[in-house]
Amino acid sequence: MKFTELGLLPELLRAVDDTGYTDPTPIQREAIPVVLQGRDLMACAQTGTGKTAGFTLPLLQRLMTSRKDRLSRAVSKAPRALVLTPTRELALQVEESVRTYGKHLPLTSLAMFGGVGMNPQIAALRRGVDILVACPGRLLDHVNQRTLDLSAVEILVLDEADRMLDMGFIRDIRKILALLPAKGTRQNLMFSATFSDEIKQLAAGFLHDPAYVEVARRNTPAETVQQKVIPLDKERKKEALLHLFETRGWHQVLIFTRTKHGADALSRTLEKSGIRSAALHGNKTQGARVRALTEFKEGKLAALVATDIAARGIDIDQLPYVINYELPNIAEDYVHRIGRTGRAGAEGEAYSLVCHDEKDYLKGIERLIKKDLERLVLPGFEPVMTLENPAKPNPPKSGQGQGRGGNGGQGRGQPAAAPRRGEGGQPGSGRRGGHGGGSGRPGGGQHRNGSRHH
Ligand code: AMP
Repeated sequence: MKFTELGLLPELLRAVDDTGYTDPTPIQREAIPVVLQGRDLMACAQTGTGKTAGFTLPLLQRLMTSRKDRLSRAVSKAPRALVLTPTRELALQVEESVRTYGKHLPLTSLAMFGGVGMNPQIAALRRGVDILVACPGRLLDHVNQRTLDLSAVEILVLDEADRMLDMGFIRDIRKILALLPAKGTRQNLMFSATFSDEIKQLAAGFLHDPAYVEVARRNTPAETVQQKVIPLDKERKKEALLHLFETRGWHQVLIFTRTKHGADALSRTLEKSGIRSAALHGNKTQGARVRALTEFKEGKLAALVATDIAARGIDIDQLPYVINYELPNIAEDYVHRIGRTGRAGAEGEAYSLVCHDEKDYLKGIERLIKKDLERLVLPGFEPVMTLENPAKPNPPKSGQGQGRGGNGGQGRGQPAAAPRRGEGGQPGSGRRGGHGGGSGRPGGGQHRNGSRHH
C-alpha cells in the first residue's frame, strides 16, 4: 500500500513525499483511515512504529477539512488540537512532526513544556496556536494563569499514555480532561505501548466508542534488533565499555543508566577517555538537553548517556547501538530502551552489560519478552560472579584460593536454574559467595562492595 491510497490531502502527500517515505507503516495504514473518519482510537503501538505520523497526518487533515473546525478557527485563536506527551523531548519531537507534515498547510503549532520561560509560550498562544503539543504540568500552569483556553479543543491525543501513568500524571490528565469540551463533541486518540488494566480504565473514561488498533505484539522488541547480554563483574563494567568503544569503532551509542548521578559519572569517564559524550536526564536544563540531543544526532557526540525517562521518545534515524550499562528494574523499560534502535525496519544492536546483582532483572526481562537473550562473554572480562548461579563464583582460573567451589560455565542462553528465594538471589541482598579475590585476569580481582548504588 502507498500513502497515496489513504485519502490524504495533496498538501500532506507532498510533505510525506518530501520526507522520502513512500509506504505507510502498519500503524499508519490502520490508524489514518480511522482518524480521518472522525472516530476515536485506542492504538497499542510502541515508539519506532511510525505512530507519530499515524496520528499527525489525519489530525492535520481533520483540522483543515471539518466545517465546524473552520468556523471555530475564524472566531478563536485557542488550540483546536491538543497532544499530551509525558516528556519534553517527546513534545519537541511530536511538534517537529506536526511542522514537517503540516508545512504546506496554514496551521500553527507550539511545543509547551516546563523548565523554560512562560513568556514566549504566552506570546505564541496570543498569536494563535492550532495544534498544541504539551506536557501536562506546564499546560496546567498556563490554565491556572489563565493564559490558555482549552474550550476550543476538538481533537485530543494522549501519546505514550502508559508512560504518563508511570510518571504519575494521572491526576493532571484527569484535570485536563475536565477542562476540555464535552466528550461527545471532540475526537480522542490514545496511544500506548502497553495495554494494562489501568490504561483500559483510562481509555474507558474518555474514549467514545473507539476503534482499536494494535500493531506490534505487546512487549515484543523490534525484531530487527539483535540483543546480547555481556556478563561482567560490576567493577569492570566501565573498563569493558571503554574496551568495546575501542575495539568496535562505535560512533553513535545511546547508553542507559538507572540513575541521573550514574549517567553523569559515566559520561565524565567516557570524556576522560577521549570519547565525546554527554549525559541526558531530568536535572539538566532544557537548553543542555536540547544541545546534547542535537549534537548526538549530528554525530558530534559518540555517546549519549541517558536515564529512562529522559530518553523516552528520542527519535534518531538509524541509531545503530543501544547499551544498557545497567539493566532497568522495570522489565518494560528494557523494551522501550532497545526500541531506540532498529526503528522503522533499520538494523540495530542492543548490548546489556549485566552483573550478578542484576540477574533477577535479567530474568524478568527474559520472561517478559519470552526469549532467552544470547550471552556474549568478552575475552579478558570473564566474570567471577556468574549470572546463572545465585551465590557461587566461577572457579579461579589461576589457582588462587576460591573459598568455595565454583559453578563453572556461563550456560549460554540457558534460563537460570530456578532461583531459590532467600538464598542471596535477590539483587542487592548482599549475600555473596566466597570470593578469594584472584580472578586471573589483568586488572581483575577487586573485591565487590555489595552495593548497587553508583
Ligand atoms: P515513531 O514511532 O513515530 O516515533 O517513528 C519512528 C521512526 O519512523 C521515525 O524516525 C519516523 O521518521 C520514521 N517513519 C515514520 N513513518 C515512516 C514510514 N512510513 N516509512 C519509514 N519510516 C517512517
